[in-house]
Amino acid sequence: MPQSIFRFAPSPNGRLHLGHAYSALVNQRRARAVDGRLLLRIEDIDLERCTPELEAAMLEDLDWLGLRWDGEIRRQSEHFDRYAKALETLEADGLVYPAVLSRGEIRAMVAAKRQAGEDWPDDPDGSPHYPGDERTLDMARRAALKREAPAYAMRLDMEKALARLGEPLQWSEVAVDGTIGQVTAQPRRWGDVVLARKDVPASYHLCCVVDDAEQEITDVVRGRDLFEATAVHRVLQELLGLPAPRYHHHDLIADDDGRKLSKSRGDVAIGALRQGGAEPADILRLVGLQ
Ligand code: GLU
Repeated sequence: MPQSIFRFAPSPNGRLHLGHAYSALVNQRRARAVDGRLLLRIEDIDLERCTPELEAAMLEDLDWLGLRWDGEIRRQSEHFDRYAKALETLEADGLVYPAVLSRGEIRAMVAAKRQAGEDWPDDPDGSPHYPGDERTLDMARRAALKREAPAYAMRLDMEKALARLGEPLQWSEVAVDGTIGQVTAQPRRWGDVVLARKDVPASYHLCCVVDDAEQEITDVVRGRDLFEATAVHRVLQELLGLPAPRYHHHDLIADDDGRKLSKSRGDVAIGALRQGGAEPADILRLVGLQ
């Protein structure tokens, strides 16, 4: 059997926190258990929020925790051309379109629809489905819109994509005990997801599937907060002819009140815990992995 390849893929837009540490350590354990490789990918397409200083601090904290990486570190900010190419493929197939409504305009249109009694869906992240109708424009008018609009997002025409692929799409979900089950993807819940913007020619979903394929990832181990996103990833993998890894969505670390930890809560930053005298073994204990 070919060697398993895992990856940890943080975004350096804040300090490393306990939730990251847990995810990285679960990846490390699972990779070790099967004598696999563990890669590090820096998801830094948001060039304003992801700074070299935050990346350096994150690498330092991961190193202190005892994490070691196989192969080169991959930085998404160095591969915008790859993501643009994937987007072009989808665009040439007529599957993505420029959507020009601003966030405020989307909110207002959806509020009006709901006020009028229309049952308008939100996606799993809580954003309303796109209410504009640019998906109906022909290729020439889409091109004109891109030339003329001051700003736009490139959105996937989900219905058209699903009609092309046929359903249902599934993925292999590895349970904690290692057994593998099939999950039926629910991509319709997402509506027309954003794959790129005029100013940032990529998005999390697009970069993630392109990189997982280029890095030949066999096992994606990440938090349950990304479980629903896997449906979008399966659609993109099928449209782009990319292989589908196995997935394991692990539990999220919660604080004493059961809330998901986030980096906005400075008290759980690994750097702060270190400064307070914590040792790596303390971090393992805090995340329940001693
Ligand atoms: N960069 C994402 C995050 O920090 C993780 C993406 C993934 O593992 O697919 O939440």
